[in-house]
Amino acid sequence: MTLEKELKEIVGDKWVMAGEESSLFSIDGFTAYRGNPSMVVLPGNEEETVRVVRSIIKHGEKIIFRGSGTSLSGGSIPVDGEIVVGLSRLNRIEEYRGNEVIVGPGIANIMLTKNAPPHLFYAPDPASYSVSSIGGNISHDSGGIHVIKYGPTFNSVLGVKTILPDGNVEDLLFHNGQLNPSSIFIGAEGTLGAIVKARLKLFPKPESRVSVFATFNTVIDAGKAVVEVFRRGIIPSALELMDRNIIYAIERSRYKADLPDVSAMLLVELDGSTSQVTEEKAVTESAIEANNGKVIDPKGKENQFWNARKGAFPSMGAISPAYITLDCTVPRSALPRALESIEKISKEEKVFIANVFHAGDGNLHPLIPYDPNVKESLLNALKVGEKISKIAITMGGVPSGEHGIGIEKIRIEEIYYNEEEIAVMKRIKQTFDPNNLFNPWKIFRPVRLPKQDEVLKVMWEWE
Ligand SMILES: Cc1cc2nc3c(=O)[nH]c(=O)nc-3n(C[C@H](O)[C@H](O)[C@H](O)COP(=O)(O)OP(=O)(O)OC[C@H]3O[C@@H](n4cnc5c(N)ncnc54)[C@H](O)[C@@H]3O)c2cc1C
Repeated sequence: MTLEKELKEIVGDKWVMAGEESSLFSIDGFTAYRGNPSMVVLPGNEEETVRVVRSIIKHGEKIIFRGSGTSLSGGSIPVDGEIVVGLSRLNRIEEYRGNEVIVGPGIANIMLTKNAPPHLFYAPDPASYSVSSIGGNISHDSGGIHVIKYGPTFNSVLGVKTILPDGNVEDLLFHNGQLNPSSIFIGAEGTLGAIVKARLKLFPKPESRVSVFATFNTVIDAGKAVVEVFRRGIIPSALELMDRNIIYAIERSRYKADLPDVSAMLLVELDGSTSQVTEEKAVTESAIEANNGKVIDPKGKENQFWNARKGAFPSMGAISPAYITLDCTVPRSALPRALESIEKISKEEKVFIANVFHAGDGNLHPLIPYDPNVKESLLNALKVGEKISKIAITMGGVPSGEHGIGIEKIRIEEIYYNEEEIAVMKRIKQTFDPNNLFNPWKIFRPVRLPKQDEVLKVMWEWE
């Protein structure tokens, strides 16, 4: 029996796609590259998923697992005809148990807090939280605006159930072993196993939440204010920075919030008991003012300001048909220098760069627009991006704060990690997946290019 026929028998004809129908699954949030799945399968439950995976493995074919396809590093793009197994139909909340919840991997992040008991919330909140799936969040170890205080997805995963590349199912949902075996799958980008269920931690909602908004005449002063807030002992629940260019884009998009036309703006959220928050607000405001910032009154538009931040990436669509999103991270103390360098590169290279990022973690997101119809424009954006990431690394930073390596950061990863570190990661991959069946072409630079492609060449090969 052909593989296609076998898969159709498991999931039903309409959940197996090939040809043009499957082209939607050839892209994700990393717009610089388009792949080509040989087939797409959308199982409807865990049992079907296990049968689908075993069947594909038996035929020796390669698999990309996919949640909602919002990866910004190309993690869910099939590079060379891999079969995409989409897990978005495994979207059930199985059970809330005290401060925990057990869910299928396809559920959108936002649904966990929406359906939780009113006193609890799920903390990791990537700006894509209304669509991105828990399976994708775990596999990229995604962050979000509340990372600063509550940690990335890693800190909220208590256990997972996975299908391994040999077809065996490993149920680690309640495995409390010393070696914490679930943790190896967090941030593994679907290269070690398919997550089919997860047990996650919920936090109690704080008694009080307040916001502080401030404007600055330079991004460098805004960066200095971020450092000062922490120096004065405050750990905000969110601390985001937006520069003039991203404000410009937002104000031309449906996320328009009448934001001030300034060089930089900080958005701070403080949570905790009412008395603690009141005290922290005063300290935060004085740290801002000590760095030439002006605390502003949102005039009833507090929620709109935060929505503008969450809609900042999509709002770039109002000024450019495509853009790349960097994700390098610097130590907080290096923020002013890093922002100064980005400004300098923007001027030197004559490229528009918009900055909107998780300033509290030093997690930069320079957004670099390009024209998708002009190859040179894309290649230039990638090169400028690499320049910025390299500078972040020289400042003691890392290439990815939360978006993962995917296909995008393979080369820059090799600049950051030494040979020994890469070798250890390769040995882990080899142990789990000796035939390289799960999400091949990701994280590690392959020994050969799968096909002649200029973008892959720029991202993967050395000059
Ligand atoms: C507008 C926008 C804003 C964003 N904001 C943020 C942000 O603030 N913070 C942040 O961290 N990210 C952000 N992202 C990036 C992205 O949303 C996250 O990486 C998210 O976790 C991806 O989830 P997904 O369901 O779309 O995963 P996908 O893109 O489908 O997959 C991502 C990776 O996970 C693997 N995978 C997916 N499901 C499974 C599974 N069940 N088992 C094994 N492997 C699996 C895939 O193979 C792939 O490698 C943003 C993206 C967009 C488009």
